[in-house]
Amino acid sequence: MVANRDLTLATDLDGTFLGGSEWQRRDFYHYLQSRRDRLRLIFVTGRDLDFVQSLSQQADIPSPDYVIADVGTTVIDGRTWQPLTAVQAWIDHGWDHANERVRSLLAAEPGLRPQPIAAPRRVSYYYEPDRLQTATLDKIRAAGFDYILSAERYLDVLPAGVCKGTTLLKLLTAIDATGDRTITAGDTLNDLSLFATGLRGIAVGNAEPCLRRALRAYNNVYISPYPGTAGIWDGLRHFGCAIAATASP
Ligand SMILES: [Mg+2]
Repeated sequence: MVANRDLTLATDLDGTFLGGSEWQRRDFYHYLQSRRDRLRLIFVTGRDLDFVQSLSQQADIPSPDYVIADVGTTVIDGRTWQPLTAVQAWIDHGWDHANERVRSLLAAEPGLRPQPIAAPRRVSYYYEPDRLQTATLDKIRAAGFDYILSAERYLDVLPAGVCKGTTLLKLLTAIDATGDRTITAGDTLNDLSLFATGLRGIAVGNAEPCLRRALRAYNNVYISPYPGTAGIWDGLRHFGCAIAATASP
């Protein structure tokens, strides 16, 4: 483990690290690859590990040091692809094998349709914005869980207190990484918890309107005019965190 690197980038994937035009992505990945030993890269995504693993088959995408998947409920070491036990145990304890309980609880609620995702520590639905009831959301909280709505389409039921942001903070502590060298990045409402950590953050130019509205209360977040990877790169410059080139041997 390298305790301190020039930068820890904790970034969402869809629309953020995977966002922007093809040439914007290629240039940014090349920039990161050329400075890879000075960068700690953490993917923080609502996707599952299978999706993240499929990215590793695309040669130009830098491999992550750590992956926070399933909206903060799965944490692995990117080199071994094994759970980061210290953080994963905290999440497991909070969830306590609740998948079936959650499915039963919400089986008859209007405007919800299960997503075809078999994640061990969350239950995910598609929701219809005009049919979803406040009472349904209250029911989730009353049963001792948290939920997150994103992209006006996705509802995730999560262990209480677990989200992308809290899991990231646990991970940084577990690996002894310093917050002042960490930058977060995202584009939808499920990234708000990353920005709520108080760490410096970048909302990319394609950020959804409800995230932009929520970010008015955050002065630690820079909203870039550029989309996806171009927005991240712009934000790194904004914060003076462009990574120095690796010295030749
Ligand atoms: Mg996204």
